Amino acid sequence: MTESLACIGLGANLGDMRAVLAAAYTQLQQLPGTRHHRCSPWFRSAPVDASGPDYLNAVACFDTTLSPQLLLEALQSIEHRHGRERPYRNAPRTLDLDLLLYGDQQIATPTLTVPHPRMHERAFVLLPLAALLPDAVIPGRGPVSTLMSSVAGQSVWRAD
Ligand code: AMP
Repeated sequence: MTESLACIGLGANLGDMRAVLAAAYTQLQQLPGTRHHRCSPWFRSAPVDASGPDYLNAVACFDTTLSPQLLLEALQSIEHRHGRERPYRNAPRTLDLDLLLYGDQQIATPTLTVPHPRMHERAFVLLPLAALLPDAVIPGRGPVSTLMSSVAGQSVWRAD
């Protein structure tokens, strides 16, 4: 079966964020059909278009034979296990998992857009992604290293 490199954005801004992100990463490692997991350092960021306390963010990558849709469903299942609720758009959340990249595929279905449509303009995604995969290219947007200069004004800093 074909394997693709998947990159996942992890974020939390409620509760014990370090514990939640660590548990979510463990659960990503346990997904069937996935291997070679690695995780970026953790970053703190001020909320963008959202309310509440600062976020803790990271990016995890792995090789997977799961389809993009199955992977999205697995991410939503992990979010639910951490009590994710959606009372309103961009509400504070115990855990947010986004499918950022799936190989070099560009996907647009009613439930899934890949690359994630806002990842290229978010420092809290680009910095951890560049720490993990400095040569990453966002299909349709360009190299992460180039995109980083346009988010230089955003407040994101290493959490460790
Ligand atoms: P959010 O509330 O930010 O977690 O958004 C979740 C919604 O975005 C779900 O309904 C997903 O179907 C949709 N969605 C579309 N593209 C993506 C993606 N690349 N990663 C995660 N969710 C996505």
